[in-house]
Amino acid sequence: MPDKPALLLHDTLTRRPIPVTPADGKRLGFYGCGPTVYGPAHIGNFRTFIAQDVFRRVVELSGTPTLHVRNITDVDDKTIRDSVKAGQSLTDFTQHWTKLFHLDCAALNLLSPHVEPKATEHIPHQIKMIEDLIKRGHAYKAGDGSVYFRVASFADYGKLSHLEDRELRLGAAQGANDSDEYSKDALADFALWKAHKPEDGANAWDSPWGRGRPGWHLECSAMSLEYLGAEFDLHSGGIDLIFPHHENEIAQSCCATGGHFARHWMHIAHLMVDGGKMSKSLGNLYTLDDLKQRGFTPAEVRYVLVSGHYRGPLNFTLHSLDAARSALANLVKFEKVLRDKTGIMAPQSHDEFVRNGNAGIFEAAWLALLDDLNVPKALGCVFGVVNSTKVAGFSAADAKAALGSLHFILDAIGIVLPEIIAEKTVTVPDDIQQLAEQRWVAKQAKNWAAADELRKKLEAAGWVIKDTKDGFEVRPK
Ligand code: AMP
Ligand code: ZN
Repeated sequence: MPDKPALLLHDTLTRRPIPVTPADGKRLGFYGCGPTVYGPAHIGNFRTFIAQDVFRRVVELSGTPTLHVRNITDVDDKTIRDSVKAGQSLTDFTQHWTKLFHLDCAALNLLSPHVEPKATEHIPHQIKMIEDLIKRGHAYKAGDGSVYFRVASFADYGKLSHLEDRELRLGAAQGANDSDEYSKDALADFALWKAHKPEDGANAWDSPWGRGRPGWHLECSAMSLEYLGAEFDLHSGGIDLIFPHHENEIAQSCCATGGHFARHWMHIAHLMVDGGKMSKSLGNLYTLDDLKQRGFTPAEVRYVLVSGHYRGPLNFTLHSLDAARSALANLVKFEKVLRDKTGIMAPQSHDEFVRNGNAGIFEAAWLALLDDLNVPKALGCVFGVVNSTKVAGFSAADAKAALGSLHFILDAIGIVLPEIIAEKTVTVPDDIQQLAEQRWVAKQAKNWAAADELRKKLEAAGWVIKDTKDGFEVRPK
């Protein structure tokens, strides 16, 4: 078990802060509902994925390894409707949007989940879960070949969304369900299996109940069971998923396994535009590409999206991207001042800094992150340090330690400075680094001939050396 303090996170289920620790004492298993791949993800979606990314980074940096599962929804009403419209197979259509989603994730510096299962690749798992639910009396086949979950069979239904009152529960469920599902026993019941309809085209699978496709809620229950087991540490998504999606996931999973499903829940508030939720259906969205075309960088977009507390709505404006640009520029400047001050001490890569670093002078920022991922407070602390630290009085060792801490805290938030991106693509091999250091020593000893000789050797190997105020830099030619 890690000896560092654990993250305290607000749990949607109990409405209390809970210490985030793995039940098995080893690895924290968490599931995030992934994108529905029928168009480009918008930056509202990315607000949620980035908050989950910060969650994972903080857990890992506090010493707990994670097992992160995030699905791809590649079959539902929308993916089918739009693939048919585009005249493409569902696979070709969803693969295209999945590829673009991955490109955006990489540009926004999101860690890849350890497992990224697709709904269409887990149809047998979903059929098996339906069979178990029918066997246990929680599901029934309707006249048209669809299968429904019997909400009345699960006493805890509504616990997550705190819809304790049965009337309210049924009313809400009624509004959230498809209007064409009139062969159900009760209005609140939701589809586990949807019988094939002509508009589904070729998108149907064989099942014990005839051809059809799984209902949307089922995939997350089936795939989390497969990759994280019946009980796992945390489940997460945007707040719009609390009801009915997560409520239905809980009902299916608990009833199919007799288990407990997710121990804790994390929900992310919405990114708003002009007071309304950013969403595809409202047509008020920005994609990363839209913003790149306006001259903004993914690092600036990420900065804006993390800068509000994940539990409060965040209003998006283009002006906030300008503010992000100047905040990042200040961080770059501070990083450079520290780097220059480290003198000839061997330069380290961002990843090495993070591996060896600790919060150090940014301890207050780190504590803010451990307190329910309070990124706005953490950023305030970071700039408090940046603005008040007198680097001029630092020794090279002080500067190196501060540099390590800066990289550590930026890594926790997933902020990428332009310099770090450039550096990430350059790894100086050990033998080249050694030659460069020998040359520096020769130069300090005013042994010009030896220094020249070593510089030529480096050049012949494809590297150039540049003297700086206090040391040197090695870069590919
Ligand atoms: P979808 O691709 O619609 O399945 O959504 C993927 C994730 O984005 C889900 O966790 C949603 O809850 C989340 N989401 C959708 N719209 C927003 C928004 N405006 N702000 C924050 N998260 C959102
Ligand atoms: Zn889900």
